[in-house]
Amino acid sequence: MKLPFILITDDDSQVLRAIQRDVRNKFREDYKILAIESAVETLEAVKELKSKNETVALFISDQRMPEMEGTALLEKAKDFFPDAKKVLLTAYSDIEAAIKAINTLRLDYYLLKPWSPPEEKLYPVITDLLEDWQNSFTPEFEGIKIIGYQWSPLSHKIKDFLTGNLIPYKWIDVELNKEAEELMNTHKIKSDKLPAVIFEDGTLLKNPTDTEIGEKVGLKSTASQELYDVVIIGAGPAGLAAAVYGGTEGLKTLMIEKKAPGGQAGTSSRIENYLGFPSGLSGSDLTRRALTQAQRFGVELLSPCQVVDIKTKDNYKILSLSNGPEIKAHTVVISTGVDYRTLDVKGIKELTGAGVYYGSATAEVHSCKGKNVFIVGGGNSAGQAAMYLSGFAKNVFIVIRRDSLNATMSHYLIDQINLTNNITVITNSVISEAIGKNKLECITIKNNVTDEQKTEQAGALFIFIGARPVTDWIKLNIYKDAKGFIETGRDLFKFETFKKVWKLDRDPYLLETCIPGIFCAGDVRAGAMNRVASAVGEGAMAIKLIHEYLEGI
Ligand SMILES: Cc1cc2nc3c(=O)[nH]c(=O)nc-3n(C[C@H](O)[C@H](O)[C@H](O)COP(=O)(O)OP(=O)(O)OC[C@H]3O[C@@H](n4cnc5c(N)ncnc54)[C@H](O)[C@@H]3O)c2cc1C
Repeated sequence: MKLPFILITDDDSQVLRAIQRDVRNKFREDYKILAIESAVETLEAVKELKSKNETVALFISDQRMPEMEGTALLEKAKDFFPDAKKVLLTAYSDIEAAIKAINTLRLDYYLLKPWSPPEEKLYPVITDLLEDWQNSFTPEFEGIKIIGYQWSPLSHKIKDFLTGNLIPYKWIDVELNKEAEELMNTHKIKSDKLPAVIFEDGTLLKNPTDTEIGEKVGLKSTASQELYDVVIIGAGPAGLAAAVYGGTEGLKTLMIEKKAPGGQAGTSSRIENYLGFPSGLSGSDLTRRALTQAQRFGVELLSPCQVVDIKTKDNYKILSLSNGPEIKAHTVVISTGVDYRTLDVKGIKELTGAGVYYGSATAEVHSCKGKNVFIVGGGNSAGQAAMYLSGFAKNVFIVIRRDSLNATMSHYLIDQINLTNNITVITNSVISEAIGKNKLECITIKNNVTDEQKTEQAGALFIFIGARPVTDWIKLNIYKDAKGFIETGRDLFKFETFKKVWKLDRDPYLLETCIPGIFCAGDVRAGAMNRVASAVGEGAMAIKLIHEYLEGI
């Protein structure tokens, strides 16, 4: 923990040295002591300490100084550290000013010069004041602070990025939290430059991109080597499992993730059916464990960093990245998973990030407190989000096209939903409009059987519909099914042209695509099971098959 400061100001250098010495002798173990001869310089130091997220516990200032009186200095310093204790150092002749300051400035004490012996006249007073300060002081949050408007899509994107990357932050809503004004003044941030992110060291980014934030928090976006045995694209459960097995089997392994490790599973509030965790675990916990495991075995991770193209040259695979130079690999695992389908209904596009969210229930849960929130979708992801949100929102409504959840959601989740009083399932229905000026205010729900439409107030709308394979970035001619999922193994034989494309004596391995050495695992693969366990299994299998492939080249 950072030590709090005691700031002493006196224009008389001899007096300053004497009080600094005495204060230091007694309090240096628990406080940093800063002694400054000028009132103006003291104010500059105060501003700097504030911008670096430091804390001042006590100001001691002489009253008579040429640049400004001690009372004026303490008054100004109080704006930055309102909880700090204030002591005026006075000569007998200044007692009147000191007594006045007790009322006007809420001065905590005036100390008459000279203060010797300090054991009698200085230490008991200061000890008492500092104990009092410690008792009432709530340490300031020392991590990353985001200042912005609740309904700004960029604010949501930043929160979502940090949440996904397991980086703690404090959200400061400019319209609700008084701290915002103070921080904006200190850091000279204008309201049209929000959202702004203030880092632990006091540095600031306005309207930042994920990459800029990633660089500041020490995420790596450049590879250390030119050639890898295996490059894994996507750090969801499939990619993470491939990384752990790649690392443990001694392969030079690189994993590249465009947003945040964990993939879809990382956004889950509670996964209850993953083997070995009888009381369930959150997606962020699973991700943290898997990532630590992979890194322990020497796997490199680049994030946030998007693979935008793969080419083949001789037996090498060449990967182009959104940032940084190309990377060469003997083999590749494509584990880019699936993304939510967009809900193409009036008003949704305009309000996305401003009350309408795809997935990401965790980053916005606090804005749902006491409100009615709606979820679209009947799968397990929607069910988990409903259970999670029910702990915060007044009511949660799940809107589904079908007449029940039975065909689309796991039994255990349906049971939990039925037992939760503030969750209601609205069946046979769709969202027909999202309404709001700068943020979502209402939604219109249409009943597909009766055609009746109802408009309801909505605090938020979370969309969990369908799955779109993330394969549109692949320009290489890799065989995919009609929906864009990647075909592998024996399924490739159903393509008439496959025999002409495939030049090897052996058949493709189980998870191999139509290009030798490029493998595919998890939800992005045609015929995948869309479960954490199956994605993990395929990730592990891919590495076993890669071993066989590498032995053959
Ligand atoms: C909210 C929710 C709850 C769920 N709950 C459960 C559950 O309880 N039990 C269960 O078994 N299953 C559950 N699932 C399903 C499960 O999470 C998925 O089946 C699993 O995550 C699939 O893993 P994956 O690695 O194949 O893909 P994904 O998890 O989709 O991960 C793919 C990763 O690749 C990255 N990526 C994509 N393109 C690129 C690129 N070009 N460059 C770099 N990176 C890229 C993505 O950002 C993403 O991180 C849930 C899903 C959701 C959304």
